[in-house]
Amino acid sequence: MGLVVQKYGGSSVADAESVKRVARRIVDAKKAGNDVCVVVSAMGDSTDELIDLARQISPLPPARELDMLLTAGERISMAVLAMAIANLGHEARSFTGSQAGVITDSVHGKARIIDVTPGRIRGALTDGAIAIVAGFQGVSQDTKDITTLGRGGSDTTAVALGAALGADACEIYTDVDGVFTADPRIVPTARRLKRISSEEMLEMAASGAKVLHLRCVEYARRFGLPVHVRSSFSQNEGTWVIDTASMGAEGENVEQPIISGVAHDRSEAKITVVGVADQPGKAAQIFEAVAAAEINLDMIVQNVSAAATGRTDVSFTLPKTDVQTAMTALTKVQEQIGFDALRFDDQIGKVSLIGAGMRSHPGVSAQFFKALAEAGVNIEMISTSEIRISVVTRADAVDDAVRAVHTAFGLDSEGGEAVVYGGTGR
Ligand code: ASP
Ligand code: MG
Repeated sequence: MGLVVQKYGGSSVADAESVKRVARRIVDAKKAGNDVCVVVSAMGDSTDELIDLARQISPLPPARELDMLLTAGERISMAVLAMAIANLGHEARSFTGSQAGVITDSVHGKARIIDVTPGRIRGALTDGAIAIVAGFQGVSQDTKDITTLGRGGSDTTAVALGAALGADACEIYTDVDGVFTADPRIVPTARRLKRISSEEMLEMAASGAKVLHLRCVEYARRFGLPVHVRSSFSQNEGTWVIDTASMGAEGENVEQPIISGVAHDRSEAKITVVGVADQPGKAAQIFEAVAAAEINLDMIVQNVSAAATGRTDVSFTLPKTDVQTAMTALTKVQEQIGFDALRFDDQIGKVSLIGAGMRSHPGVSAQFFKALAEAGVNIEMISTSEIRISVVTRADAVDDAVRAVHTAFGLDSEGGEAVVYGGTGR
C-alpha cells in the first residue's frame, strides 16, 4: 500500500491493444491498494515521426514550435490511456506536463526541471482517481512556453513527480526485462542485473545506455527514490537502481561484481578545431563559445602541438543534433581565436565499460584494450572516470566491439537469450 509512480515507454503503448493491456496493469496496481500516478511517453515511434514531419516542412524548425509539436505525442497517449482505464470502470484523469506542475527552465529541446508543484495530481489521487501525466514536457517558469526535456525525458518526468509526491518507488516500464549487461539488441546473451548502484547507472546512461534517461538517474539519486526498471510485457522482476549508500547499509555490496556492463552510443559526432595556437586561453575561448550555444560536450582531446608551428588540434565529441549549432558558433569566433579550420565526423561510435569494482582492480583497462585489439577495432579517442573506460571507434565497429568486450569480461549468460519484447530500437 502506498503511492507508486509508473512510467510506460513508447513501445509499451504502441497501439490500441497495448494501451488496453497497460490500462489493465495500472488498474491492477490500483486494486492492490495503491495510489497510482502514471507517466506516459508518445505511442511507438511517434516522436520520431513528428520530428520527420517538422523536417519536411522546415530544415531548422523554430525550437519553440518544435516543442509544441512534440508534446502532442504524449498528449495523445495520456488521453487514450485514460479512456482505456475508464472502460475498465476506474476513474483516470490525464494532465499535460504543465498542468501537472512540471516547471522548467526555458531551453527548448532539453529543458531542465526546476520545480514540480503537483497540486492537481494530489487532488486527483485524493479523489481516488488514477492520475495520468504526459511525460517529457513542462512549462518554462520565465517564458510560460511549453518545453520538452530531451529525448527519453519521460523517465525524468516520472522520477521528478515521484520525488515531489513522496512516492515509495518509481516503476519504469519498458520493452526489456530491466537493465542488462549490454543492449540485448546487440548482445542476445546479455544478462539482466538484479540491482545496480545509482552511480554505475549514471555512468551507463551517460555512456549511451538508452534504458534510462540520464537526468532521471541524477534526480532519483538526489532524492533517494528507488527506481525499478522492468518490462510491461512480462511479470518478471526487473532491475532495482539503488543508492550506493543504502546498498552499503544493507551490507549487500560486499560481493559487487567488478564490471556491471558495456554501453554504447552512436548518437555523437566529433568536431576538430584545426590549427589552434598552443597558448594559454585558447581552449577557454573555444569552449566558452560552445557553452554559450548551450551544448553539452562529452570527450575532449588536445593533441601535442607540432614543434615547427606551435599549433595544435583540439577535438571534442557532442550530440550529432548539436553539430550544426556548434559549427556556427565556432565559425563566428574563428578570427578572434585564430584557428585554421573546422572538421566534423559523424561516423563515430562510443563503447564504454562500467563497473564500480574498477576502482580497486588494476588491469581492467589492459583487458579492455586487448579485447578491442583482438576484435580488430581501432581506437580513436579514450576517456576514463573512476568507474568507466570509454573509447571512440568507427560507428560500424561498435557492435563487434561491444560483443568482444562483453565476452572478454565474462558477462555472457549461459542460460536463455534476453528477450526484447517490442520497440524498433529507433
Ligand atoms: N517521446 C519522447 C521520446 O521519444 C520522450 C520519451 O519517450 O521519454 O524521446
Ligand atoms: Mg520514446
